[in-house]
Formats: sequence, structure tokens, C-alpha cells
Amino acid sequence: MPSKRVRFNSASELPFKLERGEAALVRKRAATEVPLAESIYDVAIIGGGPAGYTAAIRGAEYGLKVALIDASPKLGGTCLHVGCIPTKALLFNAEIWDHLKHAAEYGITGIGTPALDWAAVLKRKNAIVARHVKGLEFLMKKHKIAVIAGYGRLTGPAKGGVHTVDVSQDGANSQIKAKNVILATGSEARLLPGLEADDRILTNIEILDIAAPPKSLAIIGAGAVGVEFGSIFRSFGTEVTILEFLPRLVPVEDEEISKELARVFRKRGIETSTGARVEKVEKTATGVKISFTDANGKPQVKEAEKVLVAVGRAPRTANVGVEKTRIEVERGFVKVNEVQETAEPGVYAIGDIVAGLPQLAHSGSMSGMVAVAKIAGRPFRPVRRERIPGCTYTEPQIGSVGLTEAQAREKGYEVKVGKFPFAGNSKASIVDSHDGFVKIVSDAKYGEILGVHIIGPQATEVIAEAVAVMELEGTVEEMMFTVHAHPTLAESMLDAYAAVEGMAINA
Ligand code: NAD
Repeated sequence: MPSKRVRFNSASELPFKLERGEAALVRKRAATEVPLAESIYDVAIIGGGPAGYTAAIRGAEYGLKVALIDASPKLGGTCLHVGCIPTKALLFNAEIWDHLKHAAEYGITGIGTPALDWAAVLKRKNAIVARHVKGLEFLMKKHKIAVIAGYGRLTGPAKGGVHTVDVSQDGANSQIKAKNVILATGSEARLLPGLEADDRILTNIEILDIAAPPKSLAIIGAGAVGVEFGSIFRSFGTEVTILEFLPRLVPVEDEEISKELARVFRKRGIETSTGARVEKVEKTATGVKISFTDANGKPQVKEAEKVLVAVGRAPRTANVGVEKTRIEVERGFVKVNEVQETAEPGVYAIGDIVAGLPQLAHSGSMSGMVAVAKIAGRPFRPVRRERIPGCTYTEPQIGSVGLTEAQAREKGYEVKVGKFPFAGNSKASIVDSHDGFVKIVSDAKYGEILGVHIIGPQATEVIAEAVAVMELEGTVEEMMFTVHAHPTLAESMLDAYAAVEGMAINA
């Protein structure tokens, strides 16, 4: 479903506000940095999110002459401005707030009744974003990357091996010439038909700047966006209801992970309705009303102060000139080969717009590194779907990589599973977080680790070991004899590998 916010042709259309004087600065920068017509870049990258800016930096490290074109004056894309970074900043506040609720148990007294200064929470989040925007500006200068402010579009196939990209900014047009072009235009939140985002109907953008945590929040969709915001706002005292169309929360995860998340969410007072078909979202005098059919086919109504629509993200490929090329597009997503090249020679696609690639910042950045390695003629490894970790920053966190148990069985593996609960891990006791487990899915024949699924404390950090092990094709036996420091949460991995052979020490 194409969205209305496809292009940012002017500052007023950006998903965040410019500070005073910034627009003028940007125009000045654009005026000084638009290169001479005769300069031909090795690569022009359209889109300055994690995929695009990583490709730009790595390209420069390879010695390529790089131009990075972005409609926004502030590099960083969705991830930095209205995605990963601000969301996880809020999550940290939520964690501190949750700990403070138990201050007396931790022997901390005399702090009175904690109060939430929401303005300060938002200020801190915005400062973190601003700091990283500055960091990116520094990196662009350090690597001598030409950052070009404007909206980029392909003009067609290369002529004499040189591509031309149109760049428009505030009504003015210029052209960039490059031997290769990388599309990294990202994605944006889908809305349900007939809905427009505002101060009550929210997407990931609006919810990050709401004036105060709402008394009640209905969330449509239990993917990463839905469950993360549900978890965060529940910590701040909001009554949260999550409506999910599929039969379980976080449907892309292993089924046991979904079950455990549902159990803990229930315990935390988060209401969930799976198998729910949302029919209508209406505004009422004071909030919103959602009509849906529940899993038993019964019509239901949920009223809330605000609703978050978290039903997936649409690729931004509608207005970047792909139709003038041989690029193949499938439901808006760009098809690429293993080096991220499209069907148009010399044009690559990376990040959220790529067909079959999970829409994650780290898939984007790695696909960018692969594309520029290919362009520079350097060695690389293609991005492998089953080696991309998924991290969901809920309480408890989820970290996973590889095949779920069901997928491994479907693929015909003889599966052997090991599961270790955080209840048996001493560091989990120390950090007061016993929910969840580590689950290893392995191949019975050779002991190959096919998938690792973690729900529990710091799961998004602990999963890094599993990714490295799988990349190096480690086996259960090798990992059973790999020393893990004590006491750590990572030690739960050692027990989980051993659990595959029925030999966990601590359970
Ligand atoms: P998603 O596709 O991951 O999940 C959307 C969910 O909404 C699905 O479970 C779907 O079944 C459900 N849904 C769709 N239409 C519905 C309807 N009408 N009624 C009820 N449920 C409906 O999308 P998302 O959560 O919006 O996230 C978008 C992308 O961004 C995803 O790829 C996600 O992984 C990524 N993301 C990742 C992180 C992270 O890695 N921590 C955080 C946020 C977003």
C-alpha cells in the first residue's frame, strides 16, 4: 500500500522538526557541496539511513569517491530519528523507572515518591539523537564524503557507463554523475486504509513526541514496533491493549518465545488479543474506538486515549525513478542478486527496500557493506537471511537468529532442542530478572546449530555469541567445551548447548 509520505521535497515534509536556522544552513551546505557537473563519483548513494551512510563510509574506506544524497538535512534516517535510537532511549528510562518501583527492595530509601518528568525524558532522547547526528556529520567530513541535500531520483540506465541522478531541493534541480548508484531510500509506517496519523492515531513517528504517556493505548500489530511500545508505555503506567491479526505475538519468532512473551505481558498487565481482525478505527470525543472481530469470531470494541498503528512498513520506491530502468520491483520491494545488484547494471539496492531482506538497521548496513565491497572489487560475504539476528527490545528482551524449531523441522532436519531457563542462572538472580530461557535448535546428525532463540535479560546482547557461532558453523559439542565467564547471562548459553545433550549443569 503506497503511503502518502513518500518524499520529502521540503523541510516541512520531514518526519522531524528542523531547529531554528537549520534550513538555511542546509541550503547553504547544498549550495557549497553540489559538485561540478564534470565530477563523476564512483558511487552515488540515495538515502542516508544506516544502510546508506554505512555504505558511504565503507566505500570511502575502500578509496571510492562517494556522494551521499538525502532529502533530509540530518543524516541517520528512520533508525536514528524515529526508530531504533529514540525508542531504545525511552526503553532505558522505562527500565530505570521499573527498577525505582523496587527501590526499597534494593535497599534504596529516602527518594520519596518518584515522579516522571516526561519533558525531561523527551529532552534526553532528543539529545541522544542530536549527538549521533553530529557524529555522522563528523564521519562524513572525516571520510571526505560529498553529502548532497536533496531528493534523488534515477533518470534511467547508465550512458557510457555513467549514471545520472536528478537531485531536487526546494524547487531547484541539479544532477549527480556516478559510475554506480545505490538505492537506500528506506521505508515508512503503513497505516490502515482511510487513516491519517495525528495526535491520537499514531505511528512510530508521532508516538515518540507525545505530550505525556497516555492513560490508555491500543496497539494494532504485535510485531517489534507494537510490542516494544506496548512494553515501554506499560512501564510508565499506561493501560496497554495489543491487537494482533495472527494467532500469536511476535509471529516471526519461535512459537515458544511468543508464548513466553504473552505470559510475561499478562503478568505485567498488558492485555493482548491475538487472531483479532480490526474492522474500524474511529475517533471519539476523547480518544479512539477500535472495532474488531476476536479469535472466536465475536465482534468487540476497544476504546483508548490513543492508538498506535504498527502493522508493518512500506518500502519507499514509488518515486525514485525505478520505472525508468530495468529494476524489478515486487510489491514495492526491489529484487537484487547476492551482491545487492538490481536487474539494472550498476544500480544496487540495500536496506528496507530490498525484497526478502528483514527490515532491520543491521540488515541494511551489512547489505550496504556488501554492495560497496562488490563495487570496489574487494572480498565480501553475501548477506545470509538465516544469519541476521532479530532483537526486540521489550521487557523481557528477545534475541534470535537462524531457524525456529518449526522451520528446521519443515526443512527436513532431524531436530534436537536444548532449553535452559534464566531461573537457573546466577547473574539473572543478581539483576533480578528470571523470566525467559535460551533455546538452541540443532541438527541431530552433525550437531550443527541451526537457530538460537532467547527471551530474557539482555537477550539482545547475549544473542551476539550465537550469531558468531553460526557464522563460523560451530557445533553443539564445540560450544559445550567453550569457556563462558561466571557469573554472566551469557553463561546461560553454555547451559543451553549442554541441554541439547540433556546435560545442563544448572537446571
Ligand atoms: P511487522 O511486520 O513486524 O509486524 C506487524 C504486525 O501487525 C504483524 O504481526 C501483522 O500480523 C500485524 N497486522 C498487520 N495488519 C494487521 C491488522 N489489520 N490488525 C492486526 N494486526 C495486524 O511490523 P512492525 O512491527 O510495524 O515493524 C516494521 C518493521 O520494522 C519490521 O520489519 C520490524 O522487524 C522492524 N522493526 C524492528 C525493530 C527491532 O529490531 N527491534 C523495532 C521496530 C521495528
